[in-house]
Amino acid sequence: MAKKLKKLEAFDYRRIDARGQTRAIEGFWSRWRAQYGDSGLKNPRGDRLLTELAVRAIRELAPKLLMVNYQDPDYVHWGNASHYTRSIAIIDQGIARLVETVAATPGYRGNTVFVVVPDCGRDANPLLRVPYQHHFNTRSAHEIWALIAGPGIAKGAVVDKTTDQTQIAATVGRIMGFPTAHAESRLLQDAFA
Ligand SMILES: [Zn+2]
Repeated sequence: MAKKLKKLEAFDYRRIDARGQTRAIEGFWSRWRAQYGDSGLKNPRGDRLLTELAVRAIRELAPKLLMVNYQDPDYVHWGNASHYTRSIAIIDQGIARLVETVAATPGYRGNTVFVVVPDCGRDANPLLRVPYQHHFNTRSAHEIWALIAGPGIAKGAVVDKTTDQTQIAATVGRIMGFPTAHAESRLLQDAFA
């Protein structure tokens, strides 16, 4: 295994130093530090930080595939329902900002598919002492939605049938044109125009 990893790492043309960071990424972080410093106190926090990083990544690094793993809704495990609803409002603003950034960035404008998908559902039982958990095997904790929008995607179509979350991987592969031979599931054919 270690031998194989070494071989793969040797193939990585982007690797330029011991930390394995490319010049573009080193530059990204040095510009970030120039603006926000190292204290962690000046930059946005929580999921607002992820939005800020994603917007800057689009502008400065131009990734072909960008995954933003928002996570603040899970603070609801501390027991306060507003941790959940407030963080969803912040993600909502974040997604709006990402959409605006894409619309304002040549190369992305008209050429970007958004796939928005929760990692889990939440318990709908209003009698639970701690709301919006996902550990009790309830149906609503298992059922999620997905929103896919962009060129090549069926506009305004609602697919109201049960599919698997794992189909997202193959679907993203199809959109971007890379093979997903090891993906667990078939693609979400209904998403395509
Ligand atoms: Zn959780």
